[in-house]
Amino acid sequence: MSGPVSPGDSPPEGAAVVPAPPVLELTPSHATVVGGVQVRRALPRRSRRTVGAWCFADHLGPTSATDVDPLDIGPHPHTGLATVTWLLSGRLLHTDSLGTEQLVEPGQLNLMTAGLGVSHAEEQVRGTGGPLHGLQLWVAQPDATRSGPPAFEHHTGLPEEELPGVVTTALLGGGSPARADTALVGLDLALHGGPAALPLERAHEHALVVLDGALAVDGQRVEPGRLAYLGTGREELVVDADGPARAVLLGGEPFEAPVLMWWNFVGRTREELSAAYEAWEADDGVERFGRVPSDLPRVPAPAPTWYRGHG
Ligand code: MN
Repeated sequence: MSGPVSPGDSPPEGAAVVPAPPVLELTPSHATVVGGVQVRRALPRRSRRTVGAWCFADHLGPTSATDVDPLDIGPHPHTGLATVTWLLSGRLLHTDSLGTEQLVEPGQLNLMTAGLGVSHAEEQVRGTGGPLHGLQLWVAQPDATRSGPPAFEHHTGLPEEELPGVVTTALLGGGSPARADTALVGLDLALHGGPAALPLERAHEHALVVLDGALAVDGQRVEPGRLAYLGTGREELVVDADGPARAVLLGGEPFEAPVLMWWNFVGRTREELSAAYEAWEADDGVERFGRVPSDLPRVPAPAPTWYRGHG
């Protein structure tokens, strides 16, 4: 594979972000492999690049007992985005160029902000914690912070709210202590089965990723392997779960600008992404992206498609 985001997921350039009216748009996720683990990529897709500032959503696993390859991703760089790791089961070890070494367990929010440049490695901790099952999300940074310094946060004990039919956990926004550079929400939904209603911010666009079980939205069935884009203009989301189910609600104010994504980089122009690529390839990228204390092999960057034909 050429890297986390390929042109098949999202062309590097495209139409401007246009907030949609209240809709229900079901988009199949793209099945791919990251490290050695099956993922279902709900964002970006050609037809839907961002939901608020959310620009990447990989549903990891669940792995099975017969899976032998772990999710091990060696040191690789990021720019212009924050990575969010949220596990339902299993364990990951996060190491980064800020010197962080952090075990990620279910119910804990791992948030790394790249700014101009950071690098990290992710390793599946085997033997304990059960199958690996969770989400990795990226949040595009606004112009105000995307050239700033990198940062890392890890949160346990996120705010939970018990509503009829559902327990919500605020990952980002919605009372979460985690850093958010734009107005957004990321809400874990543990649905008991049956109906549940969630208040929404009318001006925000929203989408649902179902991780386990199935539920109905506007009379349509939503299951794992799909992104249910809900548009803007909704004050409430009513879901009806078939039985116990788990989903994540993503939302936010429509993003300030169209984003360009290449490999592990988020920017606004090809020149910016080319500069990030060249920095990672030159001198091991240490000057811009730092050094990760990991024994895993460093991941080389693929050349951007627009380099083709230039030797
Ligand atoms: Mn990464």
